[in-house]
Order: sequence, then structure tokens, then C-alpha cells
Amino acid sequence: MRYINRKTISKVLPADWHKKAAYAAKEVAGTPDDERSKIINKKACIWQEIKDCLAKLSHKKCWYCESNIDRSDNAVDHFRPKNAVSGIIHSGYWWLAFEETNYRFSCTFCNSKRKTSSTSGGKQDEFPLLDEAKRAYSKNDDLDAEQPLLLDPLNESDVALLWFDQNGEAQPHPTLCKNKNGYNYKKVEKSIKLYHLNCQDTLEKRLYLASQIENKLQNSEIFLDKIDQYADTTAQLALNNSISELKMMISEGAEFSKFAETIIKGFRGTYRVADMIF
Ligand SMILES: [Zn+2]
Repeated sequence: MRYINRKTISKVLPADWHKKAAYAAKEVAGTPDDERSKIINKKACIWQEIKDCLAKLSHKKCWYCESNIDRSDNAVDHFRPKNAVSGIIHSGYWWLAFEETNYRFSCTFCNSKRKTSSTSGGKQDEFPLLDEAKRAYSKNDDLDAEQPLLLDPLNESDVALLWFDQNGEAQPHPTLCKNKNGYNYKKVEKSIKLYHLNCQDTLEKRLYLASQIENKLQNSEIFLDKIDQYADTTAQLALNNSISELKMMISEGAEFSKFAETIIKGFRGTYRVADMIF
């Protein structure tokens, strides 16, 4: 998960989009409770039309898991669900259905219920809170009082809470989430489950990336020795190449870049080149 600056969202939208969204929001607000979902869903084209604009902010990667999204019809997730909230009686945060800061560009593994042979997850209508008494039920309630148990890519401090082990599994950050009864730990634990961050398919991709990283680091050790002992210019070129490839793997546009960053940091002290990357 990488941070997305909420101020950049409105800047990438088409000039007439806010007008259309405001018109739709007004119509939904004037609709009786029992018909609201139907009207919201009928207007799905409003958020679907800006899918590509949201994708640009993350180099077409899912905002939750950083996997590449080539094509998906449902790539816009409402962070606060628009029609219902799973597990409780709630009409959904319908007043945020056409609010761009409630949108998260998302892959189907993160935003829909999915099962693999060994894992299940997917956010769907889930929006768990630490304290249910603070939940907003209407547009006049204070959203800022809610304490979501979901990491939000629009919150810079949330992004830092997610960590990975050497097996490719997403985990709470070992120091930032040290207290297992604390809010941070619970938030990451719940997010890993609901965003399906450790689904088999994603784990395999992360493990493959980890093996590529370690190969490059191992080879770089040989290059470093050849440079030091023989002033080997071929090894120098190869080392430069390895360093630039490793830097690409942690760059903003690379798939699973935060995972790659964690893996390389974990090799500091083992491989000398790991210290040259940051
Ligand atoms: Zn995802």
C-alpha cells in the first residue's frame, strides 16, 4: 500500500465531473430510504467513468494491495460502503456515493468477497470500527469521530503500519504495531483479512519478487568483490545495472513496491548492496 494524496484526486477528474456528481447526490438525497440503493446503483457510470483517472494516481495499481490492474469493471471501491454496512442495520454511507474522496481504485481480490484454495477475504460492504457507538448514520454525523479498523491509503500514517515477512506475508509493522491490543495492530490485522492481502495468488507473486531481489543482491556481492580486487570494469557496469533494477523495484510505479522495499531493508547487514539502495 502506498500513500495517495487526497488533494490530487479532484485534480485528475474531468472538468464537468463534479457537476454531474453533485446533481446525482442531490437526486439521491431526495429519494426515500427504501429506493436509495436502486438509484445509486443506476448511476454507477458516474464513478466508473473516472476509473482511469483514479488509476493514473497509482500507475494502474490497486490502492490497497499494489497489484497491477489491467482491466476490471468494478475497480472503484467506496471506502465507506454506499448501500449497506455488513453485520449491522445501516443504510450505507449513501451521502458519500458520489464523493471522490470516498473512492479507492481497487482490484477484485481487495474489494469483493473471494476465496482461493487456502484463503478467503474481500472488503465488499465491510466497514468495521473500533467503537461502534461512534459510527455515522447520516450526513450530519461526524465522520472524523469514527475509528475505522481498515487501513486507508489516503492516510499517510496508515500506510506505514503495513509490513511483510520474508515469506511474503503481510503483517502488522513489528515496532509501530507492537501492542497487540492496540488500535494499530487490530487495524492492520483486520485489513489483511478484509483486503485479502495474503491471498495465495498475491503471496506467490510476492515470493517470486523476493527471489528476484535476493538473486540480484547475491550477484552484486560478487560484482563488488571483483571491483575491489581487480578494478573490474565489466563488474562495475553489472553492479550499476543491478542497483538501478533494485531501485526500479521500489519505485512508485512498480508492482508490490512496498513489499520490495521491506525485503531489501531486511537484507541490510547481509548484502552490502542493500545499504546502497536507500
Ligand atoms: Zn488489491
